[in-house]
Amino acid sequence: MRVPFNVGDFLRRGVEVYPELPAVVDEPGVPGSFGTITYRQLDARARGLAIALEDLGVGVGERVAIVSPNAARFQTAFFGVSAYGRVLVPINYRLNAEEIGYIVEHSGASVLLVDPECDAALGSVGARHRIVLDGVDDSALWAEAPPGRYPKEWGGGEDDTASINYTSGTTARPKGVQLTHRNCWVNAVTFGWHVGVCEQDVFMHTLPMFHCNGWGMPYAVTAMGCRQVVVRKIDGEEILRRIEQHDVTLLCAAPAVVNAILDAAAVRAARAQYVPGSSVVRVVVAGAPPPSRTIERVETDLGWELIQIYGLTETSPLLTINRAPVAWDDNPPHVKARLQARAGVPAVGVRVRTAPDGEVLARSNHVFHGYWDQPEETAKAMADGWFRTGDEGYVDADGYLVISDRKKDVIITGGENVSSVEVEDCLYQHPAVAEVAVIGVPDDKWGETVKALVVLRAGSEAAEADLIAFSRERLAHFKCPTSVDFVDSLPRTATGKLQKFKLRRPYWETRPRRVN
Ligand code: AMP
Repeated sequence: MRVPFNVGDFLRRGVEVYPELPAVVDEPGVPGSFGTITYRQLDARARGLAIALEDLGVGVGERVAIVSPNAARFQTAFFGVSAYGRVLVPINYRLNAEEIGYIVEHSGASVLLVDPECDAALGSVGARHRIVLDGVDDSALWAEAPPGRYPKEWGGGEDDTASINYTSGTTARPKGVQLTHRNCWVNAVTFGWHVGVCEQDVFMHTLPMFHCNGWGMPYAVTAMGCRQVVVRKIDGEEILRRIEQHDVTLLCAAPAVVNAILDAAAVRAARAQYVPGSSVVRVVVAGAPPPSRTIERVETDLGWELIQIYGLTETSPLLTINRAPVAWDDNPPHVKARLQARAGVPAVGVRVRTAPDGEVLARSNHVFHGYWDQPEETAKAMADGWFRTGDEGYVDADGYLVISDRKKDVIITGGENVSSVEVEDCLYQHPAVAEVAVIGVPDDKWGETVKALVVLRAGSEAAEADLIAFSRERLAHFKCPTSVDFVDSLPRTATGKLQKFKLRRPYWETRPRRVN
């Protein structure tokens, strides 16, 4: 028997097994908050959303874009949109109107769901149906379907697209990563298994749901009937407070969020105040390699277990996992932390190897289908049945992968990708800029931060602050340079290609690896 995978399977199990258990605890006090809903209510709302989309004439295969911080309605959309054959397009709400407009248009979304806080700034971005998620404009979307009323049978296959996740890469514009039901399903089950998700877990949505569908954890925890606590904005102390309030046991975060939690815990400790979660909480970290000092502090200051994973949106994302085996406990904390700072060993069903030039290659059932409407870019990402990650690394003698550098021109700051090419394109529009190279440099808070190296036009003048302000008017703020160095020339190859490794070298030379 072959039954097609569908992301709806996760919610079906959640509602069949745990109908009256609390499913989602939404952010309180915001317009349209769901409060606390049970699995029966989550399922009824997901079906209600699918029926509402049918009523709007949104057909199977059409794209439904959502621009929102984490929210129960976002969690509902993972199922109400994808499980019934439509395609969810989660968009980073920190992007500006022009950037979001591009994604809405490129994906051909016929529905655009907009959080009220983003509404005014996105006034110029429209779609056939543009609906503000304020609890009024969108009320018809989230009404519970009457008992026994189901959306139309979809009859779709597991290779149909469940979501298109736009990610900044090597091109000036983000690319739409098409994840199929099969990709999302296998990733979620594999991820949930390796992290040991179980019915007793209380999950906190600290990771943005837009980022690779919250890495797939929203699916996994739903199947196991976990209580899910929504966090709309990142604040270290607020995260600690809610961990205590809801007895949270599991969260996922970029290293910058872990640092915010550690800072808040240090403030609590200085006041001799309780820090929750010791020996109970597991925090899964990815997006950038966490510094070993951060790893050590998570275990010594918080008493939490830190699990690192490595992957990309294109790989749904789980490729490798580093969950410390018991034997490592025999080491002093700083030595153990160094072992944990590596990206890990392949998850089940994943094969990882390095090419002769050091590029990490991967094969698995959760490598994406392709870039939406960009077959040439898809072809470039594949090499003889292996996916080219664009990351550089090596495998230690004990089989653990270490990510040591990036071949692709991407900067990762606070867990989000920034395309250097896009920032360079923007700065080239400034009349005083003759040449520019944008690189990532290490930063204690954000992991990496964006730096521009600029050659000014002869006779032109521009100050660092002018160029930063210029880019902040045109790009999402997290993409903008935080510093500008003025140089006389930029190193190039004989064919005129920028030699970015030379530009990056002085900022990274004291470090063992050139990613942070
Ligand atoms: P994204 O597609 O936005 O999730 O970004 C994927 C990229 O993040 C990868 O190609 C890596 O460069 C980086 N990345 C993710 N996880 C890790 C990790 N554990 N260690 C090092 N780099 C990572």
